[in-house]
Amino acid sequence: MLSTMQDVPLTVTRLLEHGMRVHARSRITTWTGEGEPRRRTFAEAGARSAQLAHALHDELGVRGDDRVATLMFNNAEHVEAYFAVPAMGAVLHTLNLRLPAEQLVWIVQHASDRVVIVDGSLIPVLAPLLPRMTSVKHVVVSGPGDRSALDGTHARVHDYEELIAGRPATYDWPELDERQAAAMCYTSGTTGDPKGVVYSHRSIYLHSMQVNMAESMGLTDRDTSLIVVPQFHVNAWGLPHATFMTGINMLMPDRFLQPAPLAEMIERERPTHAAAVPTIWQGLLAELNARPRDVSSLVQVTIGGSACPRSLMEAFDAKGMRVCHAWGMTETSPLGTVARPPAHAVGTDEELGYRLTQGRFPAGVEARLTGPDGERLPWDGKSAGELEVRGPWIAGAYYNGADAEPLRPDDKFSPDGWLKTGDVGTISPDGYLTLTDRAKDVIKSGGEWISSVALENALMAHPDVVEAAVVAVPDERWGERPLATVVLKDGAAADFAALRAFLAEEARIAKWQLPERWTVVDAVPKTSVGKFDKKVLRRQYAAGELDVTRL
Ligand code: AMP
Repeated sequence: MLSTMQDVPLTVTRLLEHGMRVHARSRITTWTGEGEPRRRTFAEAGARSAQLAHALHDELGVRGDDRVATLMFNNAEHVEAYFAVPAMGAVLHTLNLRLPAEQLVWIVQHASDRVVIVDGSLIPVLAPLLPRMTSVKHVVVSGPGDRSALDGTHARVHDYEELIAGRPATYDWPELDERQAAAMCYTSGTTGDPKGVVYSHRSIYLHSMQVNMAESMGLTDRDTSLIVVPQFHVNAWGLPHATFMTGINMLMPDRFLQPAPLAEMIERERPTHAAAVPTIWQGLLAELNARPRDVSSLVQVTIGGSACPRSLMEAFDAKGMRVCHAWGMTETSPLGTVARPPAHAVGTDEELGYRLTQGRFPAGVEARLTGPDGERLPWDGKSAGELEVRGPWIAGAYYNGADAEPLRPDDKFSPDGWLKTGDVGTISPDGYLTLTDRAKDVIKSGGEWISSVALENALMAHPDVVEAAVVAVPDERWGERPLATVVLKDGAAADFAALRAFLAEEARIAKWQLPERWTVVDAVPKTSVGKFDKKVLRRQYAAGELDVTRL
């Protein structure tokens, strides 16, 4: 029997129309460095999305599923593109502005981007690469910047404001199939070519509902969210879409991502929520310790992208900024788990332990653990295996490029269609995920696994340590052993024996897991999205570029 219910497609268009009508007065505030921020209501941004869609269609010839790329920071114009492009039926492709030049060119060509909307401040990134981006016919520049560098290429250059000015503020949005492509994002690709994930209207809509649930971010139009996680990094964790659903006000930092302007933004604009990777928050913490500010408005901070160290969570909690830890990936839209403690643990000694896990799975994400021989492992909180997931906002394939069969075969997907995350961990009987490593980062010493993440977190709890990254290095006797790389506080001495004793005594790390190789660096190398780049550390070690002390 078929249901009697209406079959209304779940589309980004619906989010746009809802947000601009029902939450017309909610605001997008864009930081401008000096002077007043740029302020725009959802109604205004929605009208400008319609104008942008007219411009893209009438002037730039965007048709069907043409790709419109953005090379932009988090700002109101980027949000306008977020809605205009999918709602008109085209595909938004957010470009990671920190990728190496070669990868950016490769990605644009692979996706066959026809238009690039670029922040004026990012012209220096785009201009030298544009001659090789042959699919790009039009560049639309938003905001001030020296445009002369874009002259003389095959692409026509337009000004965002001039392009949309005078066009109708409404658009007759087409009826779309909810399974159609809405947006795409390439994985940061630490190994091999980046892989394209293509989100559907349906997946974005359902993911937005999940982001808004009380168990996830649980925000409303009484909130303002400081969205530091870039819009090119998994759609800023789905926040811009989610805001149009519930009217959450957005505070956008644009290019002002350093600790001092972030602290100023929080003090002046008083957001209630913020989202970013741990490295951003480490920087902000140091800034607040050096120059205290009034950050009392900020009561909830979502941290994900890499594991949240206990020391960071405790330091933020102590300042009244309560951390909520979450796990996800480009392939999972990204919301996979959120670490809200279960009711019975609230207010007990168990609470912090739950909050430090990666979190529990929402109903929309099914999970299973697979052992080294492909066996299913129990959810007993002890058996560690590779996490596999499936659900309506989880990728089932990668994009293969316009000239090929669209779906690229890949060993990231199991024969029965689950995503193999490459993350290794345990799941407790009550559904909480604890990641112990990336499959490729785990240290295999004498046939046993050592968790690099556990060692890093323990080291970062030491008062002299600002950052710590642990990688596997070859060892004649044990196969692999951990190399501990630490960044020390200004003025702290490199006393490795003391750090090792701290791991053993304070963190209760088993003796056989304690690193004997140690090195101090000025900063841990980071990937384009701010995660520890362990590949670089391994290469530096292999090339003898690190000054390693052996205890
Ligand atoms: P990306 O696709 O760039 O967002 O990277 C996804 C990967 O980041 C995941 O597969 C994890 O390895 C890592 N990751 C994301 N969130 C967390 C977290 N809360 N704890 C540990 N690792 C995380």
